[in-house]
Amino acid sequence: MGKTILAVKDLKYQLGERFVLNIPNWEVAQGEIYVILGPNGSGKSTFLRLLNFLEFPTQGKIFFQGNLVEGKAQRFSLRRQMSLVFQESLLFNSTVFDNVAYGLKIRGVKPGEVKQRVNKALAWLKIEHLADVPAYLLSGGEAQRVNLARSLVLKPLIFLLDEPLANLDAPSREKFLLESKRLFRQLNLTVVYVTHEREEALFLADHLGILINGYLVQEGKPEEVFNFPASEEVARFVGVETVLEGKVIGEDNGLVKVAVGKGEIEVAAQCQARKVILCLRPEEVVLSAQPNKSSPRNQVKALIKKIIPFGYFHKVFLDAGFPLAAFVTKPALEELNLAEGKEIWASFKATAVHLIERE
Ligand code: ADP
Ligand code: MG
Repeated sequence: MGKTILAVKDLKYQLGERFVLNIPNWEVAQGEIYVILGPNGSGKSTFLRLLNFLEFPTQGKIFFQGNLVEGKAQRFSLRRQMSLVFQESLLFNSTVFDNVAYGLKIRGVKPGEVKQRVNKALAWLKIEHLADVPAYLLSGGEAQRVNLARSLVLKPLIFLLDEPLANLDAPSREKFLLESKRLFRQLNLTVVYVTHEREEALFLADHLGILINGYLVQEGKPEEVFNFPASEEVARFVGVETVLEGKVIGEDNGLVKVAVGKGEIEVAAQCQARKVILCLRPEEVVLSAQPNKSSPRNQVKALIKKIIPFGYFHKVFLDAGFPLAAFVTKPALEELNLAEGKEIWASFKATAVHLIERE
């Protein structure tokens, strides 16, 4: 990652008495994908509109490459170097080519160059074949690709996306995500991506910020935030799974073998990526004094690091060469005689692990 490209300080946005946003410090580095994850109404869209100077903060400053952005002319010129993509694609009623060319034309780019750049952008998004198709004939997924092409053709320094997948069906969503990420990297784009979907955040984020009620309540690498939520409200929002980063080391017959920390995990999945994230719910992890006789795919000896009461259950944090968490009931806790510092067998099925492809 490069240097900080965009930063905000003491940013507040108020509607009457109510704070919609209150962000003391935030920054994104050149070439980084920063994902803001938050529930509906948490202020995500407002934040992007403020970054894009579509709206003015009640208070606070925005810095671009270390310099305070002030005055209309500066805001205008910076805004031209950013692109904001919305959840709806809002295309003009003309061809795909014309939609993508529009921004270049109003910037006075010469026709020859327009043609060349538009064709390149269409190729990035694999929609060359749609160039002459009227926008109203496009499917949701195609329209969103055109939308992205229309922004990328302008070579934005900063690319802001507001829940761009919200209107797509699940299969198009996955495909779109994979391709978008590849493209962001290929073009070395700085991306600020907001969403309420945990999966998208886990898949995309170099850096993750959790926004709740207008406050950026936690920031960090996605695995950090998911595994070590700083508060109960973050934990509740990100879920309570174990999230592990790993490298694929083999694949056979629908079973993917992943190296994680000092151990290995087998997952029932199809996978094309090298780097993956694995999610495992604590209720899927079985603890036993002896190895589990039904021999599930994953069986490890683990050290008990910590036990904390968690509602009706106890949550047991383990070190199995990688961090692992399990829920046990109080009777099971007593029967197994679990205590911090002791060793125990932990097992879980290959089908219990959810695999997210990263790169
Ligand atoms: P998100 O994108 O995370 O769903 P928004 O940024 O759209 O959240 O909204 C944050 C909060 O601010 C919401 O409670 C919303 O109702 C409120 N809000 C945003 N803009 C306006 C506005 N122009 N008028 C009234 N309320 C607004
Ligand atoms: Mg929104």
